[in-house]
Amino acid sequence: MKIKILKDILSANDQRAKENRELLNRNGILAINFTASPGAGKTSLILETINRLKADIKIGVVEGDVSSSLDAEMVVKKGVPVVQINTGGTCHLDATMVASAFNNLPLEEIELLLIENVGNLICPAAFALGEDLNVLISSVPEGDDKPHKYPVMFSKAHLVVLNKIDLLPHVLFDLPAFTEAVKGLNNGVEIFEVSCKTGQGIERWTSWLSNRLNKRPSTS
Ligand code: MG
Ligand code: ZN
Repeated sequence: MKIKILKDILSANDQRAKENRELLNRNGILAINFTASPGAGKTSLILETINRLKADIKIGVVEGDVSSSLDAEMVVKKGVPVVQINTGGTCHLDATMVASAFNNLPLEEIELLLIENVGNLICPAAFALGEDLNVLISSVPEGDDKPHKYPVMFSKAHLVVLNKIDLLPHVLFDLPAFTEAVKGLNNGVEIFEVSCKTGQGIERWTSWLSNRLNKRPSTS
């Protein structure tokens, strides 16, 4: 019985996600779903992306957190439209929450939508939001074993960003082992090594993103 209920919830979510995707496509928006553990650097990467791209690309942000509006407040300071979703205890965003955020965003003025999921490497994998691309951020201090512990998230990612590489000299992190584990789960996926703190590798990330934007569906 319980299994059936869960299936119903997931298929309702998939339907909603499909509607979100259609709405995004109609508006010519490329949507990225950022997933990570708490503290890996989702907000930092979003802020750094805004810094580097906002002169050329119209960006909007959806911030998902269990509580608080701290992350949205940082985005607002960048002069970018943002909606904070407080899930009130739920450990992931779902398509209905994201649909409600759309009602509060100027979609016709947005080309790139950055969605920060709740920090959690487990259930966001089960809840599509209507995004075009899943970007998983892992970070050096978390350790190199994360792909082994959260294989579903890693296998679903379109890109893996390894943040805080400036800490590599200071913590135990086997970079070749991490890379091998990720490739074992998700063969073609690229891993971008970055530091939001020093700016190392961020250029590669923003170029990748700009390339994807040029390939998004046209609105004509
Ligand atoms: Mg955050
Ligand atoms: Zn959850």
